[in-house]
Amino acid sequence: MCGIVGALGRRDISQILIDGLHRLEYRGYDSAGIAVINQNSEIKSSKLDGKVERLEQHLRTNPLYGSTGIAHTRWATHGRPSVKNAHPHIARGEVAVVHNGIIENHELLRSNLIAQGYSFQSETDSEVIANLIHSHMSNDREVIDAVIESISALEGAYAIGVIFKNLPHRMIAARHGSPLIIGIGNDEFFIASDIFALLPVTRKYIVLDEGDVAEIDLQKGIIIRDSKGRLVQRAETITEQAHDASDKAGFRHYMLKEIHEQPDAIANTLAENVEGNSVQDEAFGTDAARVFDRVKGVQIVACGTSYHAGLVASYWIKSVAKIPCSVDIASEYRYGDTYVQSDTLFVTLSQSGETADTLAALHMAKEQGYLATLSICNVAESSITRESDLVFITRAGIEIGVASTKAFTTQLTALMLLTIVLAKRSVLSKIQQKTITDMLATLPDRVADVLKLEQDIANTAENFVTKNHTLYLGRGSMLPIAMEGALKLKEISYIHAEAYAAGELKHGPLALVNEDMPVVVIAPKNDLLKKLISNLQEVNARGGELYVFADSSVDLDRIDDIHKIEIPEVDDLIAPIIFTVPLQEKDIQSFRPGIA
Ligand code: GLU
Repeated sequence: MCGIVGALGRRDISQILIDGLHRLEYRGYDSAGIAVINQNSEIKSSKLDGKVERLEQHLRTNPLYGSTGIAHTRWATHGRPSVKNAHPHIARGEVAVVHNGIIENHELLRSNLIAQGYSFQSETDSEVIANLIHSHMSNDREVIDAVIESISALEGAYAIGVIFKNLPHRMIAARHGSPLIIGIGNDEFFIASDIFALLPVTRKYIVLDEGDVAEIDLQKGIIIRDSKGRLVQRAETITEQAHDASDKAGFRHYMLKEIHEQPDAIANTLAENVEGNSVQDEAFGTDAARVFDRVKGVQIVACGTSYHAGLVASYWIKSVAKIPCSVDIASEYRYGDTYVQSDTLFVTLSQSGETADTLAALHMAKEQGYLATLSICNVAESSITRESDLVFITRAGIEIGVASTKAFTTQLTALMLLTIVLAKRSVLSKIQQKTITDMLATLPDRVADVLKLEQDIANTAENFVTKNHTLYLGRGSMLPIAMEGALKLKEISYIHAEAYAAGELKHGPLALVNEDMPVVVIAPKNDLLKKLISNLQEVNARGGELYVFADSSVDLDRIDDIHKIEIPEVDDLIAPIIFTVPLQEKDIQSFRPGIA
């Protein structure tokens, strides 16, 4: 996911843009660039592939000065990462654009523009936006009208920031499917993909709604039009986010810091929401009790790691609350057909609350006859929370590491609370509720216990450095945990990893198992353990190397050549949260030196 920063003021803003890009690095990117309007009213830009640090160093010897500018970290979708494909893209020296998203009809737009005499310097879809805006500009027309006409021709998703050579006090921002906010300073304005980028300069901001176009002018202030062209006011918010959350606090990288923050993050997510032995309905919103009384089914929609959290929840909701629950990947849900049973609660899960596919699925769901929409999210001031009827905010604190860790375990904690509030209305007695809440109260300490295994796990992880493929196996609610473990290995080490339901081993993947394909197994002590041990034997027979994460009480002595990583014994219900942690805990530095 890319990052956008823009600034419009009366002082030199280049360093503000670079600082903002640094603060957006957590989103992942492959190249970076900046464009400013200099004193001679020229658009000057600088772009490099690789880290923002390189761009910053380059600017030290080749500085750019200006009081209006835009900057970007690119995550290439169209055209490889390179200097020429990096943003901003500039049309005929007059319009500069940064873009986050994908323009689906870029080929058609590009050929039309070429026919009009425009040339292209990059292979990106984004460059069409700059040329298109330029093609709609003329002396007797406001630039805002040229932008509105241009974006009405775009299909796909975008957040854009646009500056104009001849209007050094103006910037235009628009969003459709990608996040964008406007920061409000003292006689200066900013735009950014999220407020975290702007915390050194302002805490006050406006979140643009889907389809909004904002004209930002040093004299006129901010003028926002919605997707239908109507003038609208959007509320100003003051963020509560801490400025210094980007401090690594002595850890080698953010992900490691965030892994170690999990006991606190889980404790904060539970705090105030569990009173005595009862989970408070109000944790999900003032109207929650009325909605929960009617729920007869749950539909969860999410992407990536959040999807895995949803899969775990479906086991809990079905087994504890005895309510049917389906889980869909948001990008599938939004383009598929749906049949909605009456009184079904629609639940979205998203760390940022800005995940484009999840947001689009939520928009659809609002028209599909669901009982209500609930979002479980880590950012209170986000598009998804604003558009949901009910909201539960996880208290993980900002997550900077690209690979989600504490957001996942706090989502699971929230989903367990959801399971309890649904179950307590029918099948869960007060005593059973007490048993579960007592168990939840021990979670932070149990997670802290697993974190003490850090060195063992780091040593184990060394064995994977030379491997190219890994298989993860789990059964029941441990299958999504295996999927999450495989995702972490892929994201961080770039080692191919697949997760399978252990029972599926014999239906194909077993053929791949040999000494070059280590097999990671998640084996808590539960009813499925016997079946899982048979699967281990199958792997063993193929010469596959087994790495088994198991309760201390699980006896694996019968199986040869096995690496057993002992995890403290916990109840089956919270085991998915506990077993997640060792799968995050790799000595990442040995996989990929220099990770942020
Ligand atoms: N699709 C655009 C590109 O490939 C923007 C990618 C992004 O969001 O960073 O340049």
